This record gives sequence, C-alpha cells and structure tokens, in this order.
Amino acid sequence: MLWSAEEFRQRLTRAGRAVAEQGWAALLVTPGSDLRYLTGYRATPSERLTCLVVPAAGEVTLVVPRLERPAAEASPAGDLGLRLVDHPDGDDAVRLVADALPATVGVFGVADTMPAAHLLPLQGLLLGSQWQPAGQALGALRAVKSADEVAALAAAGAAIDEVHRRMPRWLRAGRTELEVAADIATAIRDVGHASADFVIVASGPGAASPHHDSGDRTIQRGDPVVVDIGGTMPDGYCSDCTRTYVVGPTAPDGFRDYYAVLHAAQRAAVAAAAPGVPAEAVDAAAREPIAAAGFAAEFLHRTGHGIGLDTHEEPYIVAGNAEPLRAGMAFSVEPGIYLSGRHGARIEDIVVCTTDGPRRLNTTGTALVHV
Ligand code: ZN
Ligand code: ZN
Ligand code: ZN
Repeated sequence: MLWSAEEFRQRLTRAGRAVAEQGWAALLVTPGSDLRYLTGYRATPSERLTCLVVPAAGEVTLVVPRLERPAAEASPAGDLGLRLVDHPDGDDAVRLVADALPATVGVFGVADTMPAAHLLPLQGLLLGSQWQPAGQALGALRAVKSADEVAALAAAGAAIDEVHRRMPRWLRAGRTELEVAADIATAIRDVGHASADFVIVASGPGAASPHHDSGDRTIQRGDPVVVDIGGTMPDGYCSDCTRTYVVGPTAPDGFRDYYAVLHAAQRAAVAAAAPGVPAEAVDAAAREPIAAAGFAAEFLHRTGHGIGLDTHEEPYIVAGNAEPLRAGMAFSVEPGIYLSGRHGARIEDIVVCTTDGPRRLNTTGTALVHV
C-alpha cells in the first residue's frame, strides 16, 4: 500500500474546505477516480448506489451496498474514520444519502461522473435544492500532485519509456500496425502496468490523424510512425508518451524539416512550464514556432492535458486556460504537425511543474529515431 491514511485524510480535509469555499452544503462523489483520489476506495460503478458525502463541516459519510461493505472496509477508506452506512438490496439507498446530508434544502456539489440514475432520484427527494458540477473544484484539488503522486507518475513514466526503448524490436516494415500494437500492449503490462489503456500505432498517412486507430495497414519502409502509448500502474497512476519513428534510413521529403520545427517547439513548451505561468502560455510556446514555420493549421489540437489517476484531467494546456500553473502540477506537452493524407509527427512527454524548473517524467530522447 503506497498511500498513507494521512494523505487521504489531508485530501478529505482539503475537499471539505473546497465545499465551504464553494458555498455548498455538501459534495457528493460516486465511484470513479474522484472517489479513489479522496478515499483510496476503488468501487465499481454499478446500479447499486455507492456515494461519499463530504459536508462543509462535520463527519464524512460513505454509503455503500451491504455486500460491498467488506471491500470498502478493507480499502484505505476503512482507515479514515468515515461513517460507513450500508444498504441491503431492495432498500431505498437514495434515502440514506439524503439522510447523510447536513440539510434537505441547499446547494450541493456533484462529481462529474455521478450517474443520472442516482442523481435524479436524489433531486426528486430534495426539491428546492440547487445542484452544481464539482468537476472544477475536484479537478483543482487533483491537479496539484503530492510528492508521493509525483513519484508514482515518475514510475509510470519510466515504465512506458522502457516500452519505447524496445520499439525497434517490433516496429518493422512488412508488419501491420495491429501486429505491432499487440506486441506493445503486452510489453506495457510486462514493464509493470496493470493495464495497457491505449496503443496508437499510426503509420504513413495514418500518422496525420492524431487519434488514429491502429489498423491492418502494412508498415512500409520510409514511413513515419507515430506511437502514442499509455497504461495504468497497479497504484492507479497513468502513463502517456508519444515518440515518432521513421522506418528505415530515409524519411519522406520534407519530413525531417518539419520534425525539427516540432522538436524545437516541444522543447520550448516544456521550458515554459513554471509556477505562475498561465497554462495557455505553454500552449502558445509550442504553437508560435510551429506557426512561424507555416504549420499553424497543421497543429490541430491543444498542447496537453493533466495526468494522474486519469489519463486526461486538469490542467488542460490550451488557449483560453489562463489558470496559472502551480508547483506539483503534472501534464503532457505534446505538440504535433499533421499533413493530411501524407504523414505526421507528435512528441509527447509528461512534465511536472516545480519551483526548480520543469521536470520531464519521460526521459527517452526526443530526436527522430530511425528503426
Ligand atoms: Zn490524445
Ligand atoms: Zn498520448
Ligand atoms: Zn497525452
């Protein structure tokens, strides 16, 4: 068990503070990464209601199905001094959640992933209350990582780096994208992930599509291949790293030139990541050199996303996000250049913002690799 009960208690305390700041009577959290973050309890979302109730002040309650009580007690949530309430099948579980609330009329924050099947009956019981999405408040809590979380993300980064290091074993002309992707998925688990969450092997013209689905295209000599891969470690933390390869010694005409632009842009964006800098300034740092080289329209997505218990979470590194970065934030820096119908490239590292400057959690080189 990597996480101390003390860390979860601190998270719940910060959540309670956020509830008070938002002016909510309570925060409601159903199974998902928000619940894992706050309590360490990995409940499975289902038709049976599990719900954490965090009031602005006072006791935190966890409502669980009776048959899942032993699992909840055995999880880190069992050591946090929460009030645990269980309900047998057939009982009105929504009523138990309502009873755990500090008021029957109020403003309530609701985790983004709470199923309508649970929220709507609760709203029916508490007429006159207001309901607000808690995604931003919870996202802000989760965005700043503790030292233990940074260590977990670094371990995930080192694991996925090892998979990229082995890429020449699998990535060869004459093999299909799906064959290569299957080998990579096995390796993602072999290096210590609990699951391989996505394997993008985008070759030739497919490399021009950022979320290309690996398919039965046979990889050719001279293809640029974008390989974007990630998984979830046993402790729940995620990896996500992209490298672009060229199969054989010769890249297509013009490719090396725009790869050089991309390489410089990615480094500039990583270097821009410092506490106090608006998230959108990191996006701009990647975008400006790419636009200056004439590829503004070919960089067709945001520069990055936060990462932690989810592969995509706050902070989003995107134009319009003026939120200042804070020390401890972890996010991807992944600009790309995509020439529709021809080929493309992307470079992605996970970076932690620290007071000593940006720290890359992916440490394989970002220069073009020929395989
Ligand atoms: Zn993506
Ligand atoms: Zn990625
Ligand atoms: Zn990513």
